[in-house]
Amino acid sequence: MNEKELIEHIEQFFRWYRQVYDSELILEHPVTRVSTSEPSDLAVQKGRQGQAQTQTISRRAVQYRQTSPELQAFYEEIKDCQQCELHKTRKNFVFGYGNAQAEVMFVGEAPGREEDEQGLPFVGAAGKLLDKMFSSIGLSRDSVYIANVLKCRPPDNRDPRPDEIARCEPYLIKQIEMIKPKLIVALGRFAAQSLLRLEQPLGVMRDGDHRYQNIPVIVTYHPAALLRNPALKQKAWQDLKKIKRFLDARTGESGSPHPLHLPLPE
Ligand code: URA
Repeated sequence: MNEKELIEHIEQFFRWYRQVYDSELILEHPVTRVSTSEPSDLAVQKGRQGQAQTQTISRRAVQYRQTSPELQAFYEEIKDCQQCELHKTRKNFVFGYGNAQAEVMFVGEAPGREEDEQGLPFVGAAGKLLDKMFSSIGLSRDSVYIANVLKCRPPDNRDPRPDEIARCEPYLIKQIEMIKPKLIVALGRFAAQSLLRLEQPLGVMRDGDHRYQNIPVIVTYHPAALLRNPALKQKAWQDLKKIKRFLDARTGESGSPHPLHLPLPE
């Protein structure tokens, strides 16, 4: 092998390596390469951590609502909403969670079964992936704000109906007004279409340059879509890097997103 071929080989290896690591970043169970635990121990440990995390989140949810008297008052005002049929089947009204002074607000579609049980957004399987997406770009559930277009679970997780969106959306709009995020991330088609008043497919909206009330909006895949179709994670990773670049530009920082092949803070 001559020198040129060797360099080509090395470049090819690094391209492959980069590709593998990039796509590992937001795996459902990222590879913990430095762990010495057996997979079964690790699974048990993660399960326990998950439970503890959920309890901590529940405690903090109350605390965070209380850090913003304005948001707390709004929650009290709307938590018994009966504007649409969904109130009949909900267990909990899922207001939102996070930091009332967050720079970034993530907007999802509607609560699922777990969220309905706990009264908190994104605490099921999609939420666990969302947590990993946050940590890959140095964010956390407590540094951002998370809310949904619909505050109540549609039965059997069916798609939100236009009349439900129309009645519920003013709550989201008011939350955005109160939190005043510097960036909104629309998770999935429903969030993007409702915020941007567009009828386009997600793939088209992802590429657009959007604003909601003059706040920049990045459109990306819903974590549930990434769980169903892991091939989309590569594109989602590009979106996460876009979010990080936006935030770094605001703080004047730089640096690459930290790769999750290191142990994950759970
Ligand atoms: N999917 C959403 O869109 N929101 C949640 O809170 C949970 C799952």
